[in-house]
Amino acid sequence: MTLNVYNTQTRSVGPFEPLEKGKVGVYACGPTIYDHAHIGNFRTFLFFDIVHRHLEASGYDVRFVMNLTDVDDKTIAGAVAAGLSVADFTRPFGEAFFEDAATLGMRPADCYPRATDYIEKMVDFVAGLVESGHAYQADDGAVYFSVAKFERYGRLKGIDTASLKSGARVAQDEYEKEDARDFALWKAANDGDEKAGAAWNSPWGPGRPGWHLECSVMSLTELGSTLDMHLGGEDLIFPHHENEIAQSEAATGKPFVRHWLHGRHLQLEGKKMSKSLGNFITVRELLDEGYDPASIRHQLISAHYRGDLNFTRAGLDASRSAVQRLVDFASRVADADVSDAAQPTALPVLAAEATEAFRAAMDNDLNTADALAALFTMIARVNGALDAQPTVSASDRDAALAALDHMDQVLGLLEVARASRAVGDDVTAWVEQKILERAEARAAGRYADADAIRDELVAKGIVLEDGPAGTRWKVVN
Ligand code: AMP
Ligand code: ZN
Repeated sequence: MTLNVYNTQTRSVGPFEPLEKGKVGVYACGPTIYDHAHIGNFRTFLFFDIVHRHLEASGYDVRFVMNLTDVDDKTIAGAVAAGLSVADFTRPFGEAFFEDAATLGMRPADCYPRATDYIEKMVDFVAGLVESGHAYQADDGAVYFSVAKFERYGRLKGIDTASLKSGARVAQDEYEKEDARDFALWKAANDGDEKAGAAWNSPWGPGRPGWHLECSVMSLTELGSTLDMHLGGEDLIFPHHENEIAQSEAATGKPFVRHWLHGRHLQLEGKKMSKSLGNFITVRELLDEGYDPASIRHQLISAHYRGDLNFTRAGLDASRSAVQRLVDFASRVADADVSDAAQPTALPVLAAEATEAFRAAMDNDLNTADALAALFTMIARVNGALDAQPTVSASDRDAALAALDHMDQVLGLLEVARASRAVGDDVTAWVEQKILERAEARAAGRYADADAIRDELVAKGIVLEDGPAGTRWKVVN
């Protein structure tokens, strides 16, 4: 099986073909650290994570680079409003991002470039474009990329640049979609920039890089002149990625990106979740409401990355049940009664079929919705087989466990559920003492006391299950 992906550039699904067989260089446009990332951002970041994990699970040697935008219009505006330098202003948001990313099980990138660490390279890059005639300094002191000098401009978005007003300029990092004008590579420093410590020396006077330029320089520096994959949210297609292509190809003369993948935005009550509309929810808020990280992860990866996903609490509750079913299933299989004398079961066949269906779904443009369906079909079937025959051979059990493990390499749900439900030895000792006291109360006929102990545990998210082998307990969320 080969991986097929939808490429925004060709507008079609086709085989993923890296430049060098077996090796993949990926660049993902990461967060702008001027605030806490919301779960919409994390839908996109978890899409990146699924790509990362699936490439690794498919045997590729992956170099995954995800930048942090720590200087741009938004970070400077935030720093000025807070009376801080951009470095001090962005630091806590960078830390919060890494914390949330780890909570949601994002596999670490190989490299997290920050724009402010690449300023010298950015200056050199702009100087090269000025020298080759692709860029010019304007009266406002800024250096602009001359869109008219780059014939292929507009291809990614599919816009016609024929009607382009030559020399019309835009200084800010984002502007009206469908509008193709010369964009700033380097901006002359203003008072706010100076105050926020966001001004650097350059041949064009003190200033700072434009946002589009930052990603070109960081990605080319870290991955070479042609990237196998470039990822981002759908809003970045134009102008951000269009401009990245123009600058990069003008500078290197080589194709910049082989496969462009863009994730659809998360909606809240039918509207795009965004900071500017004010309709956003953060990971932290959901954790405070008592949701566990695996449920949030499940919800955000439950739809295909190019499909619609509308966030609701009801959807998140359904994810919570799905995660619990998965966790229960994993312990049921791991703890299944094993005997050499057991009759063969359907477990190996069910596991193989599910693994195959899972792989096919992921290779089909990373279809996590179908991949999850393959997993939950296996859970239902294996549960049915274990109901019919609870005692199995070790190899049958291991076949089911291996399939689960294989799928979780990509989904990361058990991984996150286990991490957040792990309890220390002190908690284990406390729970076991409570179970003992409850057993004593029951033996003495003090049923109200026994129920009170059970309720006390439930309130702490610990559920007891009485069975023939005694009382077992588990952590639920
Ligand atoms: P920002 O921190 O604003 O630069 O955004 C970081 C990433 O989150 C970008 O790739 C955006 O496309 C993405 N993003 C922003 N809003 C949403 C949303 N509602 N759903 C999914 N991704 C989003
Ligand atoms: Zn970018």
